[in-house]
Amino acid sequence: MTLFEKIIAREIPADIIYEDEHCLAFNDISHQAPTHFLVIPKKVIPRIGEAEASDQELLGHLLLTVGAIAREQGFADTEAAGFRVIMNHGKAGGETVPHLHIHVLAGRPLQWPPG
Ligand code: 5GP
Repeated sequence: MTLFEKIIAREIPADIIYEDEHCLAFNDISHQAPTHFLVIPKKVIPRIGEAEASDQELLGHLLLTVGAIAREQGFADTEAAGFRVIMNHGKAGGETVPHLHIHVLAGRPLQWPPG
């Protein structure tokens, strides 16, 4: 069982900010911006490159959830705010937890390109 499956099962505590039938969102324990949370599917998909055609609706749901939380938390405004969405795949991509997750960072100017 991965760390994130344990968070879904409430075996490990997390600061959960949203949950529905298909996904969970919680604050990253080592935040890299004033706002940094993760949106994860409850279904186990190790990483984005291993998602399948049958995951299309679920992946769309994860992104719509990101947008809904961004609007709700007030950082979706394109002039006054903004945010970044990141998925890390594999060692060189910076992945450390093998359960698909979308990073959402906001609350400070974000440099481009990322490191
Ligand atoms: P990755 O490096 O795989 O893209 O992202 C994994 C993220 O999970 C990291 O940003 C890391 O800080 C976060 N993380 C690792 N362990 C925990 C934990 O126990 N609780 C929470 N909330 N986040 C964690």
